Amino acid sequence: MKCYICDTELTPENKTDEHIIINAAGGRLKSKELICKKCNSNFGEKIDSKLAKQLNFMANMLMIKRHRGKPQPIVGEKQSSGETYILEVGGKPKLAKPIIETNFDGEKTNISITARNEKELKKIIQGIAKKYPQVDVEQAIKYAQWRKEYFEEALHFQIKIGGNEVFRAVCKAAINFYIYSKGDPSQIKHLIPYIKGEKEKEVVWMHYEDDLYDLNSDEISHILHLVGKKDEQILYCYVDYFNTYKYMVLLNNNYQGQDIKKTYCFDLINTVPIEKEVRVDYDRKTLLDIFANKDPKPFEKVKKSFERSIALGLKRQDEHYRKELIERAIQNSLGKHPDGVPITEEMINEVIEEIIKNVTPYIVRRIKK
Ligand SMILES: [Zn+2]
Repeated sequence: MKCYICDTELTPENKTDEHIIINAAGGRLKSKELICKKCNSNFGEKIDSKLAKQLNFMANMLMIKRHRGKPQPIVGEKQSSGETYILEVGGKPKLAKPIIETNFDGEKTNISITARNEKELKKIIQGIAKKYPQVDVEQAIKYAQWRKEYFEEALHFQIKIGGNEVFRAVCKAAINFYIYSKGDPSQIKHLIPYIKGEKEKEVVWMHYEDDLYDLNSDEISHILHLVGKKDEQILYCYVDYFNTYKYMVLLNNNYQGQDIKKTYCFDLINTVPIEKEVRVDYDRKTLLDIFANKDPKPFEKVKKSFERSIALGLKRQDEHYRKELIERAIQNSLGKHPDGVPITEEMINEVIEEIIKNVTPYIVRRIKK
């Protein structure tokens, strides 16, 4: 077995797990028989990271579990104030950085600080105290007020699909799947300079067509669908992340291998591979037309795909958040009693009261919407 990128023989020393669908997007399918450690790390840094960045919005929104690490927070902006917020996984916005405002009022200087936690606040006040020795750090912290607020306005995010490096990473995913499916490396050799960024090629394009497959109501999945047609000399792979980012990869238009048809679908909610019928079975002309007429028509379809995933993401976050509120309420009230104390009716009433106290602002916000 050789690394399909650099042709180095794969040995126990240079073997490594290559995720066929990037791990950052929750991909679990991997193989040690694709590429060497060096290529894995090179490509990881150069192109996979770009794809990961683009897919992160959805991974975060949908609270996707992954093998290593967590989805990265996304950064958004409040339009009224321009304040930058970080949206952690699970969706609670946090200030991206503390806000310090200084107002001069005659002899007096008013400094207002919005910090994200006590430690940060203390650091800021200590900094200020260096400049204004009259500031009493302990006293200032004592007067700080903690506030928890619900967002009443939308945060603005930038969402992108595609781009050169991302297309190359998508192409690599398709090649990964082809080699993983026992494909012949000589049939994709011409794509190596492309994925390395040494040569331009028009082999990846967005592919938003209706009815390519059916989805269960709450399903979010990744799909790879590989087709090789000996008679028509074509090899291609449909690559679909989160049922939202959809691409067609032309692996070879002079394909000399055997007929292949292989689908992989990974259910991201239940984290299991599932069966999926993908209705992509193009003949040569239909396939080549996709790349010949790169019509940016999919806007409405792209929008529809994103709307579905975002709605599902919000639903998941909502459920997660509600659960968390209730769990916190239970901890708050029962936590006051020593462990092992028999639970009394009074304690149960306390829990209920605490739950109502915690959940009310949330309900009020929902009604206001
Ligand atoms: Zn290699």
